[in-house]
Amino acid sequence: MTDQIAFIGVGNMGNPMADQLVKAGKKVKVYDVSPEMIQKAKEANLNVVETLDEVLDGANFIISMLPEGKHVKSLFLGEKGIIDKISKDALIIDCSTIDIETSLLLGKEAKSRGIKMIDAPVTGGVMGARVGKLNFLVGGDDESVNLARPLMDIMGQKILHAGPQGSGVGVKICNNMSLGISMIAASEALMLAKRLKMDLKKVHEIMKNASGNNWALSTYTPLPNLTDGVPSNNKYRPGFSAAMMTKDLKLANDAAKSVSASTPLGKHALEIFSEFCNEGESETDYSGISKKIGGDAWDYPFDPKGKD
Ligand code: NAD
Repeated sequence: MTDQIAFIGVGNMGNPMADQLVKAGKKVKVYDVSPEMIQKAKEANLNVVETLDEVLDGANFIISMLPEGKHVKSLFLGEKGIIDKISKDALIIDCSTIDIETSLLLGKEAKSRGIKMIDAPVTGGVMGARVGKLNFLVGGDDESVNLARPLMDIMGQKILHAGPQGSGVGVKICNNMSLGISMIAASEALMLAKRLKMDLKKVHEIMKNASGNNWALSTYTPLPNLTDGVPSNNKYRPGFSAAMMTKDLKLANDAAKSVSASTPLGKHALEIFSEFCNEGESETDYSGISKKIGGDAWDYPFDPKGKD
């Protein structure tokens, strides 16, 4: 049987992911609710359909790439939810970064109807999606994960199976909490060095090779002109927006509360990123947090929102 893929949610990530599948010769129908994203999908020559019935017709894979848990819940389990319209031999691959509770609920509701489901959020951002080099963080049973593997191999470079269903979003939330904290840490260290009037290139080079190194500092450096190809060199255009990071830190904070885990730095990182968003920087790349950390020492000759 030829695979028929229903791709629901073709925004910044879903659009290039669906495009990779099409380029690999897969039969893909896409559906979205945003006129702007539908237009972009048409411009990318994706096969856009107008109704959920059409996108589900004949589909044995349903891939969803939606913003938040409430969207996933409403799509599958809401008043007009599609769960009862999905074929029994289909597999749901939910790639959205959402709360563990919603992901587990969807998994349970799917299973009770004999439908397979995995959670498979991604890292690698829009750039990774465009070149088929995402990393999939996957939760689900072996059979379902292996069924989804050929499609994930097309869209991604690494398939990292974390455990049972719900583990993919679990590891994604833990990872992004650590990332948000370390982006603030890297910004604090570099801005301190700047106030100390040190040579930033030398500080960066030494720290990259010392015990204070982390991915945010070495690879996604929050101050410009230290690392090639990062948003800090490009007026902090995202990349991964401060709003997205705030959403993920909120997911981590809620998850921590639900199991009484102590995550004081995760909580503080959420406060700092929330304030940054409230200051009008939601669409700034999350590495632009260095501006907030730097205060009046942050004197680079451009506006991080790209307005110059
Ligand atoms: P986006 O807002 O650009 O796209 C989401 C799309 O879902 C939109 O086009 C929206 O119209 C559509 N949508 C919402 N509800 C829908 C529904 N009921 N039916 C059909 N379509 C619906 O978001 P994105 O940047 O593509 O991110 C998607 C997910 O991936 C998020 O959970 C995000 O946290 C995660 N993620 C994003 C990045 C990134 O760099 N953008 C990186 C890794 C993970």
